[in-house]
Amino acid sequence: MAYEITEGCIKCGACAANCPVSCIKEGDTKYEIDPAQCIECGTCAGVCPVGAPRAE
Ligand code: SF4
Ligand code: SF4
Repeated sequence: MAYEITEGCIKCGACAANCPVSCIKEGDTKYEIDPAQCIECGTCAGVCPVGAPRAE
């Protein structure tokens, strides 16, 4: 069960800067998590100012 970034993302980049496995990349409208690499640590959810990352 990987984390997923929902539509509320404001593209601040905090999640990508803090992901321990660097599996978050900037997409066209929001940041995106590669589910194959995510280790479900929850760091992205903890640093996001708008609560966009959710456990799938
Ligand atoms: Fe990266 Fe952890 Fe978020 Fe998965 S849960 S995308 S490993 S920070
Ligand atoms: Fe988007 Fe939240 Fe990541 Fe910032 S920390 S890029 S708002 S998901």
